[in-house]
Amino acid sequence: MKIDVLTLFPEMFEGVFNHSILKKAQEADAFQYKLVNFRDYSENKHKKVDDYPYGGGAGMVLTPQPLFDAVEDLSAGFDNKPRVVLLCPQGETHTQEKAVELSKEEHLIFICGHYEGYDERIREHLATDEISIGDYVLTGGELGAMVVIDSVVRLLPGVLGNDSSAPEDSFSNGLLEHPHYTRPVEFRGLRVPDVLVSGNHGKIAEWRKLQSLKRTFERRRDLLENYPLSFKEKEWLESLK
Ligand code: SAM
Repeated sequence: MKIDVLTLFPEMFEGVFNHSILKKAQEADAFQYKLVNFRDYSENKHKKVDDYPYGGGAGMVLTPQPLFDAVEDLSAGFDNKPRVVLLCPQGETHTQEKAVELSKEEHLIFICGHYEGYDERIREHLATDEISIGDYVLTGGELGAMVVIDSVVRLLPGVLGNDSSAPEDSFSNGLLEHPHYTRPVEFRGLRVPDVLVSGNHGKIAEWRKLQSLKRTFERRRDLLENYPLSFKEKEWLESLK
């Protein structure tokens, strides 16, 4: 996968891209990235990328020319058109499902906004996707792009390794994941549930599934609306109510 990030602050990404899973993913050749300062594409003699909003009002608006030119340049030479993801608080809220969808693409371009926002023509005629990372307003799209990129890259083949737990992660199968325990079996009088040290894999799997359902029921009941519960699971959840 090739990931291009259009940003006015490329330095912000260096720490995130050069550590942990994102670093490993590059070493494993799972993805390559390019950080592009779209100011470099500005045709303005002062390299300006923003201007006052028509109609007046506070804040500056990102102009279309540098971003259109940058995306066209970065798309050249590819058979398929890239997905162009605009980071934006008004976009669809990012989900695991969206991360899975994007992880199947060959080429992603992320556009990080700043100031008051984008000229609407960028939104309407350049972006293929608009993603928000939550219902709050950030100063710029960089943190959002890092969040989305991390969630996508960890899903690429070979990145998490064979002992990967990604398919069991929260949201991957529609539920929150079950609780985890590790050594010691007793810590300050608090014991690990007996079933987990029983060696009975069938019982452990059943316990985990029920805990996963319970946790989802307690914390994210909305997720259960679309989850195909078996008759037994429905009965068990009823008993929790
Ligand atoms: N005036 C805009 C509005 O009310 O929708 C907010 C602009 S914000 C100060 C500047 C930039 O930060 C946005 O263009 C976007 O790229 C990024 N941003 C802010 N909040 C975000 C969020 N929740 N998710 C993703 N990107 C966000």
